Amino acid sequence: MAEILYGKNAADAMRETLKHETEALALQGITPILAIVRAGERGDDLAYERGAMKSCERAGVGVRRFVLDADVTETDLIAVVEDINKDDAIHGCLMFRPLPRGIDENRVRNTLAPEKDVDGITDLSLAGVFTGSGDGYPPCTARACVELLAHYGMELAGKRAVVVGRSLVIGKPVAMMLLEKNATVTICHSKTKDLAKQCRAADILIVAAGRAGLVDASGISPDGIVIDVGINADEDGNLRGDVIREDAERAKAYSPVPGGVGAVTTAVLAKHVVEAAKASRRDG
Ligand code: NAP
Repeated sequence: MAEILYGKNAADAMRETLKHETEALALQGITPILAIVRAGERGDDLAYERGAMKSCERAGVGVRRFVLDADVTETDLIAVVEDINKDDAIHGCLMFRPLPRGIDENRVRNTLAPEKDVDGITDLSLAGVFTGSGDGYPPCTARACVELLAHYGMELAGKRAVVVGRSLVIGKPVAMMLLEKNATVTICHSKTKDLAKQCRAADILIVAAGRAGLVDASGISPDGIVIDVGINADEDGNLRGDVIREDAERAKAYSPVPGGVGAVTTAVLAKHVVEAAKASRRDG
């Protein structure tokens, strides 16, 4: 029977540590604050926002929301980001994307001050992940995969890791983070030949493709650890991962959807805000 890697366990442990850190910061008169910038009322954004607010509250991190119309102009959105940059009481910023149509996303995301980029959206943060310089913050979901593995004591050095997906939000940064931990990493994508064979060869398999049931039993090794990042809603609105759950159960260990990586992502977000608040105290 596979070990189930529950995200809640990892997230609760992270928030417990964060609570102590925010209490220590409070004694110095500092409350870490996250700004949430959202344009419009997309259901996915609202659900994530609720989760992020709850997670931050439990970690002792405050939240300020900047809710804009779905037809906000690029100029107005940039003005909001610039205000956040200037506000010393705000330590981090989560910006929901994709941004409304017609807005130059590259321009807006790179307006954010790198030291407040707690979800790894600026080029500088991404460069930090790729150079290993430690500058900026990695995207929260990518780090959540690594934190989940660490919480359950999964060794990465020397292991063969296979990542399915090469987006800048998950696939590429998580591959770099695994490499940093001395795993031997293969990145697969939609043009990869014989995906099942690649997946089956993995000691650590991370699937972030956004295709329900993409990986079935033919891609699962009985000795493998499977981290399913995919979130796909079926016709009844139930959430499904990229890996068929019954087949993931053939692995040594797997993270379920829901209840796996998603639960860790908002704890990582809170962690990054606390790290940013500590860094601002050092720099200030
Ligand atoms: P994305 O930008 O659409 O990227 C998907 C990647 O998967 C692409 O690199 C694509 O390859 C690859 N892919 C698609 N179909 C494939 C196939 N048949 N075989 C192999 N590779 C395939 O998606 P994303 O933003 O990275 O998100 C991936 C998933 O993670 C989504 O389900 C999303 O909802 C979920 N997610 C979860 C969290 C969380 O907290 N748990 C957070 C964010 C996102 P190409 O590059 O060749 O097109």
